[in-house]
Amino acid sequence: MSHHRVVVVGSGFSGIAMAARLAQQGITDVVMLERADDIGGTWRDNRYPGCACDVPSQLYSLSFAPKPDWSRDFATSQEIWDYLRDCVRRFGLLDRIALGADVVDARWLGDRWAVTTADGREWTGDALVLAVGGLHVTKRPDIPGLATFAGPILHTADWPAEDHLTGVRVAVVGTGASAVQLVPALAPRVQVLTVFQRTASWIVPRHDRPWSPQRQRRYSRMPWTARLARWATYARLEVRVLGFGRWERARQVAEARSLAHLAAAVPDPDVRAALTPGYALGCKRVLLSDDYWPTFAQPHVSLVTEGIQAVEPTGIRTRDGVLHEVDAIVLATGFDPAGSYERMHIVGLGDRELGQVWSHERATHFGITVAGFPELYLLLGPNTALGHNSVLLQIETAIDHVLDALRRADRDGPHVVTEAAQARFGRWVRRRTRHTVWASGCDSWYLDEQGRNVTVWPASTVRYRLQARRSRDRDYRRA
Ligand code: NAP
Repeated sequence: MSHHRVVVVGSGFSGIAMAARLAQQGITDVVMLERADDIGGTWRDNRYPGCACDVPSQLYSLSFAPKPDWSRDFATSQEIWDYLRDCVRRFGLLDRIALGADVVDARWLGDRWAVTTADGREWTGDALVLAVGGLHVTKRPDIPGLATFAGPILHTADWPAEDHLTGVRVAVVGTGASAVQLVPALAPRVQVLTVFQRTASWIVPRHDRPWSPQRQRRYSRMPWTARLARWATYARLEVRVLGFGRWERARQVAEARSLAHLAAAVPDPDVRAALTPGYALGCKRVLLSDDYWPTFAQPHVSLVTEGIQAVEPTGIRTRDGVLHEVDAIVLATGFDPAGSYERMHIVGLGDRELGQVWSHERATHFGITVAGFPELYLLLGPNTALGHNSVLLQIETAIDHVLDALRRADRDGPHVVTEAAQARFGRWVRRRTRHTVWASGCDSWYLDEQGRNVTVWPASTVRYRLQARRSRDRDYRRA
């Protein structure tokens, strides 16, 4: 068993960013435990055709590790994965990563965390950072008969190197962020593509363009131009937060833009009507695509909006009794954000187990700390996701909070967030969410079973930065 100043679980964007910032602060006694056999988190797992970022590349690098030579406005998953590997090299993190280390148990021993992996290896750390993300435990729909299907069933987040979908009849279940990228990429090479939609998505044009070599050179040679472009992109995205709040007019403008895009893309009025969302834009994640809607104008692509009744060996039967015969099924059905934590047994003060504590409500303080769990830090925890801007901004703010808290722990010993501070934060999230589009009545993975917002930060990134970047003494007590 080896002891470290900080144990980081996960080596996706947030884990790498955490270890890099620790290294910048001179804290190198760190181990990163990675379940898989390579680093990269969701950008390692998501390899489906067409997979790319729906946040502009300008904002999809860490502020302290700029990348001047993205190939295009919206980077592909491969390019982002390469960037993460480059960060690992740049910050000398390679020898701090333990691969195949699937953390199943973490226990607070009074002055340190003891962490155990599935294969029985153990580490201890003064602090434990869970950088496990929300997009890695896949959600497989509970459709009767799914296991009886005779052909392959793929999930977008678990794509095989060779998918064998060329020239065959494929069903795609789900029409969220992954599906709108996959469907246009798959259409040209399959015989028949049938998309099963439960809820239509709001989509706005992406306008993705390649970066010219001149632009890449300019950003390399004159980094201030890249910084300026990043700021401009940030400001353009940040104002969109108004549309998620009380400013209905901004939302209506975006809806009109989306509907104009739909009208231009889909000539058939029935298909167009079926693709038209019936809820306020922003309630579910707003999707970006130039080519998803136009794909439905192709003769071999069809949209099914009738509910799925069951899967049979040869296809999918809908509630109207029709059997849609297919050779392969792709599940674009997303992730279970809570599952990332539920797969670990995390025990804090007084034998409190995180899963049990959270069974009623996933309560935290700024999505970073949890009452009863000293020196435990979450990155991309509950209520930190965004609908309007790059989530990397949130990760960096949370990391500043952790670094601040670690300085206090060095000075005064281990601390834990107070119940009062956590409750105050919970009340504010509830109050604030009431006035946002997420509470406007649609069903989304942002909400828990009771309809509470447990996923999104319901305000601007500026506000998160101002409020959460410091770990304030009044919110913490000695553990
Ligand atoms: P998602 O947004 O949760 O979408 C899942 C889709 O599957 C929805 O259309 C959902 O329908 C449907 N679905 C789920 N269960 C179903 C069932 N039993 N029967 C029929 N349909 C079912 O998942 P995702 O597209 O994988 O995206 C998840 C998140 O990943 C996104 O919100 C985003 O944060 C992230 N993402 C990001 C990028 C990027 O470019 N940065 C790309 C892909 C994904 P309902 O809407 O009716 O529930």
